[in-house]
Amino acid sequence: MSAVLVVNSGSSSFKYQLIDAESEVTLASGLVERIGEPTGGATHTDAAGERTSLELEIVDHTAGFAVMLEAFAASGVDVVADLVAVGHRVVQGGARFFEPTIITDLVRINIDELSGLAPLHNPANLAGIIAAQKAFPDVSHVAVFDTAFHQTMPPASYTYAIDAALAEKYRVRRYGFHGTSHRFVAHAAAEFVGRPVEDLRQIVLHLGNGASMCAVDGGRSIDTSMGMTPLEGLVMGTRSGDIDPAVLLYLQRRAGLSADEVDTLLNKRSGLLGLSGRGDMRDVQTAADAGDEAAKLALDVYVHRARSYIGAYLVELRGVDVISFTAGVGENSPLLRSRILAGLESFGIEIDPVLNTSPDRGARVISTENSRVTVLVVPTNEELEIARQTLAVVGG
Ligand code: ADP
Repeated sequence: MSAVLVVNSGSSSFKYQLIDAESEVTLASGLVERIGEPTGGATHTDAAGERTSLELEIVDHTAGFAVMLEAFAASGVDVVADLVAVGHRVVQGGARFFEPTIITDLVRINIDELSGLAPLHNPANLAGIIAAQKAFPDVSHVAVFDTAFHQTMPPASYTYAIDAALAEKYRVRRYGFHGTSHRFVAHAAAEFVGRPVEDLRQIVLHLGNGASMCAVDGGRSIDTSMGMTPLEGLVMGTRSGDIDPAVLLYLQRRAGLSADEVDTLLNKRSGLLGLSGRGDMRDVQTAADAGDEAAKLALDVYVHRARSYIGAYLVELRGVDVISFTAGVGENSPLLRSRILAGLESFGIEIDPVLNTSPDRGARVISTENSRVTVLVVPTNEELEIARQTLAVVGG
């Protein structure tokens, strides 16, 4: 048997998944959390769905990988023997990384250098890489970047209209995120409709806690709603998405907020949470159903923003063949799917209310037979995409 371990490392936790290289079945998954706190936690689920949890102090990521190895051993899996490679999610690859990349010393230095652009993410991803390389020194480790899929965006999409020299010096441009998910969904959608991805113009809506949209032309990202950071674009659980940049300056000058306070405001206290006091879409929908005006407005703003991007991408792509919804909200909220695409029959987009509310979980069509544009729900699987890209690089 050969398997790929997929690692998604945060600053105080990491998730992992062991995926069979051939069948693509998940052989085990787990979460190591509260690293560096007095009581850490580890949960491991084996192939049969059997879950074990324990609490213990986990001083750093290296100790976390030791805990993970013990969990594999306890469930009778010789993970080292089966492993062909480890795939790591890395958030920011800058303009340097446009494809999955085998992690060498130089690549590690590059990922570290890009920390200025992603201070919350790249150092945490790197901590996971270093610990995993110690735990599995004999296999290749591959970095799969959230930004890589969007490196095909043309300059007109990724350039901010500011002083060009300043932008270049500080690498200020749009990078886009969720690339692994957008790529997975665009390919899965093409397979689902039975056409080559090269022939399709697609719009992908990744609507989770974080949310972004992507215009995919022939399998290549030509535009996406997130920018230099994941703050730009759609209304999210706690992020504002697009906002007049002058608002930031106004709040600093008039409300006396510091730069850090504005950062926290826009990233952690805005979006659905800022508008309605609830950051979770289920809670917002429930409150709106009960007549809560703030929750209704939050939904209205959320839908309005997503529709603006639908319009933009319809024009950029000169028409669209497939629109796919994915992630927590996209996969589970018929209400938001129907509101985002309401009244677009003249653009060939027509949702079938019965299909849209079907309880099915897999990839499925939700447009009518007459709809010129095929509208799909496609469950995303970023871990599987990372495993596939990792295998492609190591030649598995
Ligand atoms: P993350 O970005 O953290 O991976 P997810 O993709 O899991 O997020 O999406 C989480 C979001 O999906 C939350 O806002 C949650 O409320 C929303 N969600 C999950 N199930 C439903 C549902 N049935 N209806 C509406 N929203 C849902």
